[in-house]
This record gives sequence, structure tokens and C-alpha cells, in this order.
Amino acid sequence: MLEDLEIILKKVGDDQKKEKPDQNKLGFGVHFTDHMFLMKWSYEDGWHDAEICPYKNFSLDPASMIFHYGQAIFEGMKAYKDKNGQIYLFRPEDNFERMNQSAARMCMPRLPVESVMKALKAMLYLDRDWIPTAEGATLYIRPTMIAVEPMLGVRPAKEYYFYIIASPVGAYYPEGFNPTKIYVSDKYVRAVRGGVGNVKTCGNYAASLAASEEAKKAGYTQVLWLDAVERKYVEEVGTSNIFFVIGDELITPPLEGSILGGITRNSVLRLTQDWGCNVSERKITIDEVIEASKSGSLKEVFATGTAAVISPVGELCYKDEKYPINGGKAGELAQRLFDEIQAIQNGSKEDPYKWVVRVG
Ligand SMILES: *Cc1c(COP(=O)(O)O)cnc(C)c1O
Repeated sequence: MLEDLEIILKKVGDDQKKEKPDQNKLGFGVHFTDHMFLMKWSYEDGWHDAEICPYKNFSLDPASMIFHYGQAIFEGMKAYKDKNGQIYLFRPEDNFERMNQSAARMCMPRLPVESVMKALKAMLYLDRDWIPTAEGATLYIRPTMIAVEPMLGVRPAKEYYFYIIASPVGAYYPEGFNPTKIYVSDKYVRAVRGGVGNVKTCGNYAASLAASEEAKKAGYTQVLWLDAVERKYVEEVGTSNIFFVIGDELITPPLEGSILGGITRNSVLRLTQDWGCNVSERKITIDEVIEASKSGSLKEVFATGTAAVISPVGELCYKDEKYPINGGKAGELAQRLFDEIQAIQNGSKEDPYKWVVRVG
């Protein structure tokens, strides 16, 4: 693998710089920074034409294979800036390693991780003024790979683009750490073992839309997915991993092929084990969750993912019955995890795990 890929720098001119959005009205994924990273891959030449360039449109042939057969994978991670202007990334190599696992499953080329890390750091440093400093606001980073070979025919493409774009995003909980209401779907499923549920590939999200639209219409924020075979075991919630506190046990479903292995999930497992919690990665049925809710032993439910970090669940709806959790309030463990992980991410707390990577 070409680890010494040459990266060309094309800075935006001062007069081409975009106006920065109001830090208090950022929303999620609507504004993009001045620069992007782009490189191309071909069967003959491997990765080449790597550049940090002004954020720009692509011109793609309508026959590009991405539009027909969906070879597309992506990642999501965040950069933070502290009061002194120091920039941090949270476990970025893990994102690129996961992207390489996604690439292998989707018959796409492997990324040269060292070169991509170098490019990402350089791009972040160039766009450092775009990283918000308001409480809880961050820069969301979206590495993406798509098949661009113009060809109709189902086989792996012979040409790809890999690019990184970045979007300043507001605090996920501007009005405090608010629990969500979750709808348990027994009509739709997300993924089967042997399929691509453990891959961050675009089709998974397209396939999930109908279920989440129905859940939203019924007044719920997200869908809780059950396993596709028996519709019995809990898998994930929306595009996040899920945790339950039943009695004194913290439970999350194991990674057996249909669940995306979240980096936040992994960080939560590591922290709670170090705090001496009774942690289990084990199968858990929706019936066990409902029974625990009825008996009063279901203490907390929360989801984990890069966007919200920790997202407490205040209510579950299953087969038209509503089950409030912890009186609809965020749980103690969810709050402690949220505070701890955020503090490590934004550099305000020491990082014994070497999760944080400094930029610049
Ligand atoms: C991205 C994602 C997650 C969370 O992963 P993180 O690395 O924690 O952001 C969980 N489930 C699905 C389906 C995802 O796409």
C-alpha cells in the first residue's frame, strides 16, 4: 500500500472564503467548511490525485456505478477545539480501520490510513476557524468512498473517489440532556447476519427510512430494531447502539454480524468496566426488557453514537403499549457517561486511554 501518497494543497483564496454561520444556529450537517480532501483510485494506478482543495461539486457520469449498485461507504467522527485553540480528534484511526472493514465487505479499495490521517489533520488545521467553540458544538467529519466508474453491470467498480468533508454542528442537547421516545419495530427489520448490518454502507440507511418515518408519525424519535430472524432479540436503536441497565447489570447486545460496532459503544464498555460496573455483552430479548420494565428492575436505557454521544431513552412503545423508563428522565449512568466522554473528547479531562489525537 502506498503510504507515502503525495498530497497537493490548493487553498481557497481569501476572497472565496465562505461566510461562517452563526455559532448558535448551526443545526446538524447543513454548513460545510472551506476545504475538502479528495483522492481517486483506479484499478491500474491505485490511490492517486490526492488533494486538499476548496469544497466543490463533482461532475459524475450518470452511469457511475454508485448511482446504480450502491457501492458507497462512509464514517462519522468529530473534531473539538478547546479554549486555547487546541484541536482534538476522538479515536480517528478506529474510524478509518472500520472504514477499511466496510471497504473489504463492499469490494472497495483499502485506505492508506497514515496518509489519510495526515490529510485530515492538514485539512482541519486549514479550516480551524470553522471548528465551533460554543459549549457542546463540534466539527462533524464525514469521510466517504463512492464507486465512480461509468458502467452498467453488477461487479465491483474499477474507479473510486474517497473524500472528507466537514460540517460545524451545534450542541446535540441545547436544552439539556433530554430523553427520547423509541418505537420498537416488529414490522420492519434492519439487517441479517451474513448481510451488511455491520457495515456503514448507504443502503442500510435508505432501507431504514420507512420505519423511522412511521415511528415519527406516531410521535417517536427513533426505531428500536429487533433481529430479522425471530424478531425477538434487541439489536440497535436508529443509527446508534443500545444499552440497558437491569438491576445492577449493564447490558448491550453482542456484535455478531448484524449490528454496527460503534466506537462510542466500545468507549462505554471500556469506561464502565474500569468503573467496576457489572457489564454484559449478551443477547437480550425485547420480552426481557418489557418484563424488567413491569417489575421495576429496568433502571435505564440509552443509545450511543458519535452524533449525540449518549442519548437517554425515556419511553419505549412495543405492540401499542407504552413503557416509561426512569420516569421519563435521563438516568444516572447515562449522565455520568455523557459528561465523562465529552470531557475526554474536548480535552477538559485527562485521557488515560489515548483516545484523543491532537492536531497542530
Ligand atoms: C455509526 C453507527 C453507530 C454508532 O457508531 P459510532 O462509532 O459510535 O458513531 C451505530 N449504529 C449504526 C447503524 C451506525 O451507522
